Amino acid sequence: MSRTVVIVGTGLAGYAVARELRKLDAEVSIIMLTNDHGGFYSKPMLSNALSTGKTPQSILNSDASHMSSQLKIAIRPHCPVATIDVQRSRLMLQSGEEITFDQLVLALGADQVRLPLAGNGVTEIVTVNDLDDYAKFRESITEKKRIAIIGAGLIGCEFANDLVAADYQVDVIDIGTQPLGRLLPPDAGAFLRRKLETAGVNFHLGTSVETVENRDARFYLKLTNGQSIESDLVLSSVGLRSRTGLASAAGIAVNRGIVVNRFLQTDFENIFALGDCAEVEGKVLPFVMPITHAARALAATLAGHATPVHYPAMPVLVKTPACPTVVSPPDFNVIGEWHTDSDGEGVKALYRDGSGNLLGFALLGTATKEKIALTSQLPPILS
Ligand SMILES: Cc1cc2nc3c(=O)[nH]c(=O)nc-3n(C[C@H](O)[C@H](O)[C@H](O)COP(=O)(O)OP(=O)(O)OC[C@H]3O[C@@H](n4cnc5c(N)ncnc54)[C@H](O)[C@@H]3O)c2cc1C
Repeated sequence: MSRTVVIVGTGLAGYAVARELRKLDAEVSIIMLTNDHGGFYSKPMLSNALSTGKTPQSILNSDASHMSSQLKIAIRPHCPVATIDVQRSRLMLQSGEEITFDQLVLALGADQVRLPLAGNGVTEIVTVNDLDDYAKFRESITEKKRIAIIGAGLIGCEFANDLVAADYQVDVIDIGTQPLGRLLPPDAGAFLRRKLETAGVNFHLGTSVETVENRDARFYLKLTNGQSIESDLVLSSVGLRSRTGLASAAGIAVNRGIVVNRFLQTDFENIFALGDCAEVEGKVLPFVMPITHAARALAATLAGHATPVHYPAMPVLVKTPACPTVVSPPDFNVIGEWHTDSDGEGVKALYRDGSGNLLGFALLGTATKEKIALTSQLPPILS
């Protein structure tokens, strides 16, 4: 009998493994289980869909039944997994059904963090983390004018740029003193802020939201600096937390993510994890490029050729057309300094160690043209 690989999650990570594994093994039985509709789409498109003329319908690349016939896979949409029995290699679904696996891949993604705010409008704060969320978001901004975004990180800035480009009035609130505070040195953050302000974004930085009240379908945000903001909708994008609950309840080691080694393998031999839910050798990298590399390595391992994942330097493009930006942040455990050059049209910030080695960069505006040359000088993230 052929073996069965069960993949939980039909996001970019789940589908990337399924596709790579099918290329290597035409016979293996692959079952994909998911909470959601199971269709294939590119999640990064959600935060620039207005300016690229995309609708939730056009973002959906292929529905589950099309993916199923294309990849010769059984796909089970709306089928949440409740528990994993690691000893008996079995999954219990919320419906009560049990499914046995030879190898299990957890591609569970991450949840948006929700801040503990006060006020009667808090439960109506919106987050956008998948296509269903985005469809609701698009519906709820119809006929609306003013949107408040909590969080000036990558996703917050991208949505802010997209919404002002579509003529919304946008207020962005962040406790940090600059946008993209975790990715950019101060001069680069200030440059991005100016460009986004010129495009129409109102920043409220160095402050946070205290309360969100809803009166007559309008939201009133009170900030800790004493300011108030009125808006038609509040979008929160303050960070992601890997989905680890299913794994930890099963006794699989978790930390910030589901802990895996270079073979994407948990502490159980036949259980693997990748994507936003996984912590690979201490790194949680919630981006597309790491998924591509991890999926190729994992598919080879699942097909019988144990293959460790290697991560080259993987710069991230920030989709803010008002200020083209590409970042390759230095690893958190390296020591160096930022050296920044700015000429009004762009910012080139290079992070170097004491010997002059390049360990990271942030390129904005015209400086983004140096991306390829500088990427080739960066060390790999996992060699
Ligand atoms: C708005 C936005 C813009 C982004 N832009 C970029 C970008 O420009 N560049 C970039 O590199 N990255 C970007 N990212 C990040 C990137 O999209 C993610 O890293 C990637 O999509 C994560 O894929 P994933 O498969 O790990 O998780 P997900 O896509 O979240 O998939 C998780 C899957 O697991 C399923 N699931 C979870 N729990 C269960 C359960 N118990 N039972 C059954 N199924 C379950 C879910 O239903 C879902 O199918 C962006 C993210 C967002 C939100």
